[in-house]
Amino acid sequence: MAISISYSHMDRFFGCGERFRRTYLEKDNSRPGVALPIGSIAHRMRAWYLENFVLGDRELDSKVGEELADLTDDLIREMITEPELHLTRAQLDAGVNATKIHAANLTRSIVKADAQNLWSKIGNAVSAERKIKLRVDGWPYPWSAILDSEHETEQGAQEIVDLKTAKNKPARDSVRSLQLTMYQFMRALEGKPTDILTHHHITKHKKPEVYITRTEGRTEEEIEPLIARAELYCERLEHEIYNPAPEGSWMCSPDWCWWFNECKYSTAERRPST
Ligand code: SF4
Repeated sequence: MAISISYSHMDRFFGCGERFRRTYLEKDNSRPGVALPIGSIAHRMRAWYLENFVLGDRELDSKVGEELADLTDDLIREMITEPELHLTRAQLDAGVNATKIHAANLTRSIVKADAQNLWSKIGNAVSAERKIKLRVDGWPYPWSAILDSEHETEQGAQEIVDLKTAKNKPARDSVRSLQLTMYQFMRALEGKPTDILTHHHITKHKKPEVYITRTEGRTEEEIEPLIARAELYCERLEHEIYNPAPEGSWMCSPDWCWWFNECKYSTAERRPST
């Protein structure tokens, strides 16, 4: 995958430059953990729903739930059941099959909860999983983003929705995320205003909880931290500065980093005692 100025690339770069280097420059593929496919399937099924029943002209009927379940199961097979995943020690102790069955059931619950919530609470979507990639003068890489969904309210306000799946409840300020700032900025590059930013959070539980938080669009001043971060990212890439994850970082452990056992930075002193 080519390097771009995207929220996810910057997040990975600042989380651990070494992981970023291996992933995007050496293209040394790692196995994903369980969380990634669960989130990806939730996003893909939401896009399927929006494309068919909100943006498209399909009518909701009694067969929709069945179709949604079948498509979700196809993706579960493709992304969870069949591939080899990078599991944590606790997941390995629980057993590979048991972990995958648990992940598959969680995914089904999340997709169902999201669909039910969408059917009753979200309308007038104008896009689903829209990719934006733009070259901007003065920047060495293209800016890019995939917007989960864009909406227009009955009053004509322009809204961006970011879907998140996570074990815990959302943090109080999750709607202030740099990711939503990035999405607004990308629309601004296209000449589109944004009035509302929405964080749509679904917990990964047997009975998922849904949290929706909205805020007004960011001011120009509030966009400045994004620009500063992007400048630092480009500068470090230019000088090939790939800082490893800080000591004590949760991701720098055998559970969460595929390269832990061979990484030159995960020396005995740096290794967590667990
Ligand atoms: S072991 Fe730690 S420093 Fe090395 S790539 Fe993984 S997260 Fe980064």
